[in-house]
Amino acid sequence: MELEVKRLIARGKYAESFCFDYVPPADLCLVPLCKIDKVKVKGEYEIYDDDSVEVKLTVNYLLSGQCSYCLSEAKKEVSFLSEVLFVPEKDDENYYYDGNKINLKPAVDDAILMSQPHILLCKEDCKGIDVT
Ligand SMILES: [Zn+2]
Repeated sequence: MELEVKRLIARGKYAESFCFDYVPPADLCLVPLCKIDKVKVKGEYEIYDDDSVEVKLTVNYLLSGQCSYCLSEAKKEVSFLSEVLFVPEKDDENYYYDGNKINLKPAVDDAILMSQPHILLCKEDCKGIDVT
């Protein structure tokens, strides 16, 4: 998950798309009793004259585990678009990179965190465990 910016510039590849699979660490899944097996990351980058790099990426994954209300099996497809900027000079708003290589992992991890629902339900109107 790296963009070798210097090399891409040398080869005149200022904009391109990319696609890769990523297995996130278990602690990246915040929903109780659930997991994310694999994340499909699709995106494109564009390198600007000032060496800042715009990255648009979409994360797609299946969140699966137990319903937060009734504990039966549940799953949900999640898709989330994130648009970020990597800059070679540190600032408060953007991701920093050293002007040479971009590691996309922090941006991908953030997209996975931001895209997660707080709970996972087996069906929209799950009433929880039936105690009658
Ligand atoms: Zn349920």
